[in-house]
Amino acid sequence: MPSNRRIKFKSKKRFKKRWDRVVKGLGRSVVIYSPPTKYECPACFYDKVNRTSTNVSKVPLGHPLYFAGGRCPTCNGKGILTTVKKRCIEGIVIWNPGAAKMNEFTFSEAGHEGARQVEIKTDICHKDLITDCDHVVIDGIICKLSDLPVIRGLGGKHLLVAHFFATEK
Ligand SMILES: [Zn+2]
Repeated sequence: MPSNRRIKFKSKKRFKKRWDRVVKGLGRSVVIYSPPTKYECPACFYDKVNRTSTNVSKVPLGHPLYFAGGRCPTCNGKGILTTVKKRCIEGIVIWNPGAAKMNEFTFSEAGHEGARQVEIKTDICHKDLITDCDHVVIDGIICKLSDLPVIRGLGGKHLLVAHFFATEK
């Protein structure tokens, strides 16, 4: 009788091997960029009506952000500052995950003509970070999330699987 248990054991082992590769740092680096956060410039008064800087210093003379006149040097007259948050995570990276199954025929989703697909497998603790990301950089290529990441479990271990498409060719 073919043992179901043995098959399970085999795939468990294979999974563990893959997972160990990630843990040992053989996984690749994926840089996650969260949506930029905007906040009011600390140096100048904001003009809420025109959504720009009044170019009037709101800090006193002697303060490092003080300016006497002209365009606010801190925000360049925009009145708003933007910060980009990025975080580097480790994961298994698979470019064109559908290609092997489809006889090397490059699979592309509607609307992403010719775009390269990429799958990453990583720790489930990154779920929110990836779900809310603006974009990611994998192997130096800017990619956008194509589906919400899903959790896949095998043998008691869980991995987060996320699919992206390259925004450049
Ligand atoms: Zn300013």
